[in-house]
Amino acid sequence: MRRSLLFIFSLLVFGGGIFFTSAQPVRQTWKAGVSEVIITPRHSMWMAGYGGRDKPSEGTLHDLRAKALALEDISGNRAVLVTTDLLGFPKGMSDRIRDRLNKEYGLTKARVILNSSHTHTGPVLADALYDIYPLDENELRKIEAYSAELEDKIVELTGRALDGMKPAKVFANNGVVRFQVNRRNNSEALIDRLTGLNGPNDYAVPVIKVEDTGGKLFAIAFGYACHSTVLSFYKWSGDYPGFAQLELEKSYPGATALFFQGAGADMNPLPRKTVELARQYGRELAAAVDRVLNEEMTELEPVIVCNYDEVELSITGIPDEKELAKMADNSTGYNQKWAKRNLDELKSGGKLITSYPYPVQLWQLGNRQIVALGGELVVDYAIRLKQLFGHQLFVMGYSNDVMSYIPSARILREGGYEGASGQIVYGLPGMWGADIETKIIQKILDLAEESGIPVQEAKLIESAR
Ligand SMILES: [Zn+2]
Repeated sequence: MRRSLLFIFSLLVFGGGIFFTSAQPVRQTWKAGVSEVIITPRHSMWMAGYGGRDKPSEGTLHDLRAKALALEDISGNRAVLVTTDLLGFPKGMSDRIRDRLNKEYGLTKARVILNSSHTHTGPVLADALYDIYPLDENELRKIEAYSAELEDKIVELTGRALDGMKPAKVFANNGVVRFQVNRRNNSEALIDRLTGLNGPNDYAVPVIKVEDTGGKLFAIAFGYACHSTVLSFYKWSGDYPGFAQLELEKSYPGATALFFQGAGADMNPLPRKTVELARQYGRELAAAVDRVLNEEMTELEPVIVCNYDEVELSITGIPDEKELAKMADNSTGYNQKWAKRNLDELKSGGKLITSYPYPVQLWQLGNRQIVALGGELVVDYAIRLKQLFGHQLFVMGYSNDVMSYIPSARILREGGYEGASGQIVYGLPGMWGADIETKIIQKILDLAEESGIPVQEAKLIESAR
């Protein structure tokens, strides 16, 4: 009796299983592939991010890496996230890489995100922030050679991620970690004595988990919004994101960890300046990711929608020839280099740019939206976008082109480094127009409408009318 019941039971279970499997369409899963390449310069060269350095690099703390996560949905739509231990891609380089990705793999700009961790212990890239570094011909040649090689490596890296795609499950959720400090509204010098910290902040740790169909974790993409400026010495390193990635890869052998930078332009990891602190923040971030990986995550339906556009942001307060000449005479350092360069441009019959094509990107993976924006994005954007799209939204800054700081209307009014003087550091000829935030948000809303993505605030406003 017992045996026959067992037989009926097994028939139900296994027979049902076969029926269930054969009833499925050909493929109802994601395909995903991941790849990485070491991009540590082979020779000593100039380091990016700080104008005060007076010599090229001296050694390596840990390797710099570029990584790619390729995803394909059930309709064959593809999207590739490239993350890098670099300060930020300048436009020329990003355009060249994305052109090649389009030609070689059919990936349009909408389908590629080129993000950088904003490490300040990585190499200077071609045509990026040249005014602030004391570069001679020899150093410039090294930068150009490294940059050309890096472009090849990223194209090849993307190809490998696409080639390696296999059936996968993709999950997403946000975690939290609180080592970012709003650097505009708290004194770094007093950080050890402050009993409370001023915001605004966004402590979210967005996490994407990718497993094979057997449940083995093979890719972890995660982010945080905070400057990678714990370290400012002369050794190559990925700063705290470098440590976070290494830590996760140690905890999950066989998995590749990819860090993307969020809206961290006005956030610093404080206190800072020691390798031990960089390691501590890396471990804290890895622990936050680890917690998300081990709790229940939202499984994403295998559907990708990608949208991208560039919005012309106006540049105002551009000095004329007389003002530039005065500044060239009366200033020093990078201010003087900036003034002289712009003056030369005008004298040789050229024009200074009055607007800039700013990259705005919106992905939807299953029901999860990701907004990827260019430049050094301040935290106000993440806060505002989460009001619009919901708190589960993933926000990336430092994506596709890092041309300058991107202040909100508030920070533009307040001025300071992120609101005003950072423009000269980046070599732009003037300030951003007062409508910068309105234009960027409007473009994201336009992309959301094109993608059929609902917007919460718009709904609220409509229902209030
Ligand atoms: Zn920065």
